[in-house]
Amino acid sequence: MAYTTFSVGRLRCHLLEAGTQRLDGGAMFGVVPKPLWERRIAPDEKNRIPLALRCMLVEHDDGLVLVDTGIGNKDDAKFRDIYGVENAGAGGRTLLEDALGALGHTPDDVRWVINTHLHFDHAGGNTYRDAAAGGEIRVSFPHARYVVQRGELNFALHTNERTAGSYLPPNFASIDFRLVDGEVELLPGIRCLPTPGHVPFHQSILVESGGERACFLADLVPTSAHLPLAWIMGYDVEPLVTLETRRRVYARAEGEGWRLCFEHDPVVAAGRLGRVGKGFGLVEPVATA
Ligand SMILES: [Zn+2]
Repeated sequence: MAYTTFSVGRLRCHLLEAGTQRLDGGAMFGVVPKPLWERRIAPDEKNRIPLALRCMLVEHDDGLVLVDTGIGNKDDAKFRDIYGVENAGAGGRTLLEDALGALGHTPDDVRWVINTHLHFDHAGGNTYRDAAAGGEIRVSFPHARYVVQRGELNFALHTNERTAGSYLPPNFASIDFRLVDGEVELLPGIRCLPTPGHVPFHQSILVESGGERACFLADLVPTSAHLPLAWIMGYDVEPLVTLETRRRVYARAEGEGWRLCFEHDPVVAAGRLGRVGKGFGLVEPVATA
């Protein structure tokens, strides 16, 4: 199975498996000592841990809404080897398009693409290399309106030595985005929720219908192992902001019983926030497809 399906009120949602990557386990867990994190996700011989590239698709009255686009197909062999990317799909595209196809959709059917942020493992599939057209780079979802926070596009276009490696212009520079500022209900029941820390204008996507809520957390909490407040990635540019964002989001998630969706968890696609010992942890886990 290429996807996991759940409902939020009357909205049907699917978590699409767009492939996997491997990133350094130490970088993924920041200041958490290896003896603690390796019990949660075991590293390979290069100290990398496997990570999902999970995207969310919502069947909305306004059309299909896709949140994040995976890594895409534009990178060379060296890049794919360094990051352990395994996402090749049928017809030269990626497993994201295959998962859409398994649900009976094509890229042309997608009406909205929301990027949580523009790092290559979230926006890499915004565009694709068309081998049939001499390797030209094209928009992956030509009938979709692409959405990102205005501050994030600005951050991606003005990088420095620390941030440049994650922002690859072919993923976003040619796209005519609809820019949003702060918290907005983009469509009825689809809310862009600023969750800064990983990057200053990172957003999570909250789906609300019939009193139920699900949140696509993206890199606020990349895997269920990152639920403890202090288990913050070394990649975050403002880790103490991540901490305060989590406190705020967790209060709502716990009080309102949100379903939490994990973009990068290799095993757990979703679950709910619970108390585990003195801290936060996962309850009601839903295994990946
Ligand atoms: Zn990420």
